[in-house]
Formats: sequence, C-alpha cells, structure tokens
Amino acid sequence: KLGNETVKAELGRATWKYFHTVMARFPEAPTEDQKEALRSYIYLFARLYPCGECAEHFMQHLSKYPPQVSSRNAASGWACFVHNEVNAMLGKPEFDCTNLGEFYDCGCGVDEEAGEG
Ligand code: FAD
Repeated sequence: KLGNETVKAELGRATWKYFHTVMARFPEAPTEDQKEALRSYIYLFARLYPCGECAEHFMQHLSKYPPQVSSRNAASGWACFVHNEVNAMLGKPEFDCTNLGEFYDCGCGVDEEAGEG
C-alpha cells in the first residue's frame, strides 16, 4: 500500500508538539524514579511510533544519542537535538534550540509549576 506523506507529516507535527511539551514539563530536579520513567517512556515511544520506518530511524538516533534525563534542561535540549537530527535527515532547516524557552507551553498554569506532568 502507498504511503500518504500528508498524513505522515501531520502525525509527525502532532507528535513532536506533544513530545517537546512532555520535556518542557519534566521536573528541573527529577528523582531517580522520574528519570527512569522518562528514559523508559522515550524508548517505548520510539518503539511504538505508528510509522514503522520513522520508528526504525528514530531508534537508530536513540542508540547514537541516548536520552538525557538528568533535568528538564537536559531533556528538552536532548529532544531538540534529536528532532534536529530528524530534520537534517529529511532536509529540513535546523531549529535553534537556544530559543526553546516558553515555546512548548502545556497551558496547565503556574499552580502545577512544580508538578511532574
Ligand atoms: P516538524 O518537524 O513536524 O516540527 C513541527 C514544529 O516543531 C516546527 O514547525 C517547529 O516549530 C518545531 N521544531 C522544529 N524542529 C524542532 C526542534 N529540533 N526542536 C523543537 N521544536 C522544533 N517523517 C519522515 O518522512 N520520515 C521519518 O523517518 C520520520 N521520522 C519521524 C520520527 C519521529 C519520532 C517523529 C515524531 C516524526 C518523524 N517524521 C518522519 C515526521 C517528521 O519529523 C515531521 O514531523 C513531518 O515531516 C512534518 O514536518 P514539519 O516541517 O511540519 O515540522
């Protein structure tokens, strides 16, 4: 069956938005348990990504660049970096990771600032 590039791209945009928002909400100073949760999540995310070809590529990126889970900054910076690896592979422009700032806002408000999710 022929692939549909439009649908694949739409899934990609929705997924990246979610993925980066997860990183933006990861604790600044995570516990060991939270670090392990993020690490497992990232590997399972890659393994279960619905586009099989994408999943395969992404798992290769993961083995080359293992997830950084020591802090929110580390996780967000790592996610931005691996997304840029995918951008490069697809011939897309590089995103400036120093401008991540408030780009990924969950809309959950300040009362949950210290929260994990
Ligand atoms: P996207 O790459 O979807 O990015 C969406 C928005 O995120 C951008 O408009 C920009 O505002 C922001 N952004 C861009 N770069 C970054 C960054 N580095 N950090 C933070 N934010 C950023 N497609 C394929 O054809 N082949 C593949 O093998 C493939 N593998 C994929 C693997 C994964 C895990 C995911 C989630 C997607 C994959 N895709 C793949 C889809 C592809 O990455 C794009 O999502 C899709 O092509 C749409 O691209 P886009 O130009 O709209 O922007």
